[in-house]
Amino acid sequence: MEHLYAKTIEHDSCNLWQGAVNSAGYATRRFNRKNEYVHRLTYARERGTVPRLLRNLCGHKHCINPYHWEALQNLRQYNTDTRTWFDVAV
Ligand SMILES: [Zn+2]
Repeated sequence: MEHLYAKTIEHDSCNLWQGAVNSAGYATRRFNRKNEYVHRLTYARERGTVPRLLRNLCGHKHCINPYHWEALQNLRQYNTDTRTWFDVAV
C-alpha cells in the first residue's frame, strides 16, 4: 500500500493523488483490467471495511487519506448535506 502513497503529494493532512483520475475527479488506478478508486483501497486497508457509500470530507476528491472519507449508511443521509462529494461502489 505504501507504493500508493508514493504517488501522492502531502498537502496539510491530505495525500493528493498524482496519478490518473476519472472524469469525476476521483483517484483511480488500473488493476486486473478494472479501474479502482484508490481512496477505497486505502480506506479498506487502514479502516478494515469497504463501505458502499463514501463521502469526501476534505474537499479534494483525489485525496487518498482514508481518514478524509466517511462511510454513509444511505443516500438520504447524504441528501441532508450537499456540501461534499461522495461516491458509490459499483
Ligand atoms: Zn484530504
